[in-house]
Amino acid sequence: MAFTHRTTNSGTESLAADPKAESNVGSSSSSTNHLAPKNYAGAVSGLVDQLGKLPGIGRKSAERLAFHLLRVREDEALALAEAIRRVRQDVRYCSACYNLAETELCSICSDPNRDTTRLCVVEQPRDLMSLEQSSAYQGLYHVLLGRIAPLDGIGPDQLTIEALVDRVRLGEFREVIMATNPTVEGDGTSLYISNLLSEFPVQMTRLARGITAGSVLEYANREMIADALTGRQKL
Ligand SMILES: [Zn+2]
Repeated sequence: MAFTHRTTNSGTESLAADPKAESNVGSSSSSTNHLAPKNYAGAVSGLVDQLGKLPGIGRKSAERLAFHLLRVREDEALALAEAIRRVRQDVRYCSACYNLAETELCSICSDPNRDTTRLCVVEQPRDLMSLEQSSAYQGLYHVLLGRIAPLDGIGPDQLTIEALVDRVRLGEFREVIMATNPTVEGDGTSLYISNLLSEFPVQMTRLARGITAGSVLEYANREMIADALTGRQKL
């Protein structure tokens, strides 16, 4: 009836309503549906349900994992349970950079050999890990714990941006390297932060992009080539 496409509001409403509807369908079907409650003992069914909640694990995979855990040695299975317990009880965010840590400061912030004049801003702890594995960077990090994503309702206040500004305000950093993901949201987050930090005397840089090392022009897509041209360097 009132399906005019007059306002974009109706669009956002229906976007917001959809996942809810989906999850309702999902939960009702899983509670009324087949197999588990009838065929498995309570404990097995509970394990399958829990495993099935993990990202990328469907019902079949959950069942396979559950049976695997029943088959392996008891101490091996319990080691998994213990690892989950430890990670939830002992791991927290570093009070300086928001990397994962088991003490007040993470291993990077408490390493006296790091270059404390450089700060690299990443979205997630796993991005930090990727950069660390390259061994190419010796400075410090700041983990945003996400990116600004208005469509998902994530604003700057939900990230660790205020803490980042406070750190830069202290004046120790000479360079802030933006290493958010090369996506629309990552770039938007990077731009927002660059504007915020422009009042401080730090050099703002971002990771180079473009043609991946080891690849050839023929297989690069348009964005990669455009980025490579924009970020070209002197020979
Ligand atoms: Zn830290």
